[in-house]
Amino acid sequence: MKWEENVRRVVPYVAGEQPHKQKMIKLNTNECPYPPAPGVAELAKQLDCAALRRYPDPNTTPLVDALADYYHVNRDQVFVGVGSDDVISMTFMTFFNSSRPILFPDVTYSFYDVWAELYRIPYKTCALDADWHIRPEDYRQENGGIIFPNPNAPTGLLEPLSVVEDILRHNPDVVVIVDEAYVDFGGESALSLVDQYDNLLVVQTFSKSRAMAGLRIGFCIGNAKLIRYLNDVKFSFNSYTMNYPSQLLGVEAVRDDTYFKETTGRIIRTRERVKEALQELGFTFPDSRANFIFARHETVSGEQLFLALREADIYVRHWNKPRIGEYLRITVGTDEEMDALLAFLRAYLHKEAV
Ligand code: PMP
Repeated sequence: MKWEENVRRVVPYVAGEQPHKQKMIKLNTNECPYPPAPGVAELAKQLDCAALRRYPDPNTTPLVDALADYYHVNRDQVFVGVGSDDVISMTFMTFFNSSRPILFPDVTYSFYDVWAELYRIPYKTCALDADWHIRPEDYRQENGGIIFPNPNAPTGLLEPLSVVEDILRHNPDVVVIVDEAYVDFGGESALSLVDQYDNLLVVQTFSKSRAMAGLRIGFCIGNAKLIRYLNDVKFSFNSYTMNYPSQLLGVEAVRDDTYFKETTGRIIRTRERVKEALQELGFTFPDSRANFIFARHETVSGEQLFLALREADIYVRHWNKPRIGEYLRITVGTDEEMDALLAFLRAYLHKEAV
């Protein structure tokens, strides 16, 4: 068909499975195993559905204000989007318009190359070192922009702020985006650097640490000029991206800092305990500071374990890709869920060994 010549062809990002089974353990998309803050459920019950006939606030003012207060920045330094996927996609469209390639790690969030292809942005990947760390010296070559997650995904490894600053210092002429989807699980945020570097954007999400993946809330913080340019593009794309319930419930989540610290603390404790148990079972992994562990077994292949777990209705993430094919990315669930996972692995590996 002739019209096919004019199709924008893309190979889409493949999201983790979302099975709906009664009795399953879902550790494959880094969701929070605990519910959102109790105030969110309370407010959801009282939602004024008559208000749904109106368009939502295109500036998402209450949520921008709540985030500005919480992170001690000005409201003109905050941009809100429909999940951080939406925010990052907007940043690619807004800031990566050079003919020079943008740079990101070779093992990283697998949406970056998809957006680059979608928007026809040239890109180049920089290999992580043998211990899965970013080599800051790789980011001293000519480029049209930089993005990396910190902690990185799927490795879970955190780079110290000195590495982030090294990259910023060597790249004053391009926008540097730090994707902090997992920073609340023990990372050190680059938010402290946004007033110092006018080319730094820090992206975060409500999907993991705030247990609201279903509402789709993400945001970024940076210099007011960056935010203005982002809003110009956003308002040229779709004015009403974030729906009214998400705007209200998002504010409620930010209000309850005690609950936020409690749940992230609990996930961190579970993660550390599971690391020890996995090690005893013959797994090795980078020392994750995220809400997942990226682990491989000394004798049993990643694919075999992935399929065996799936058969038992325990869902983890596995990629048939170079460098990472032997690894499983296991989200940290509740203590009960992790105990069930460990019990399964113990029995399975024991059976394999005899
Ligand atoms: N960045 C990274 C590194 C992620 O792993 C994810 C989760 N898939 C996202 C961004 C996007 O998350 P969300 O759109 O739910 O905010």
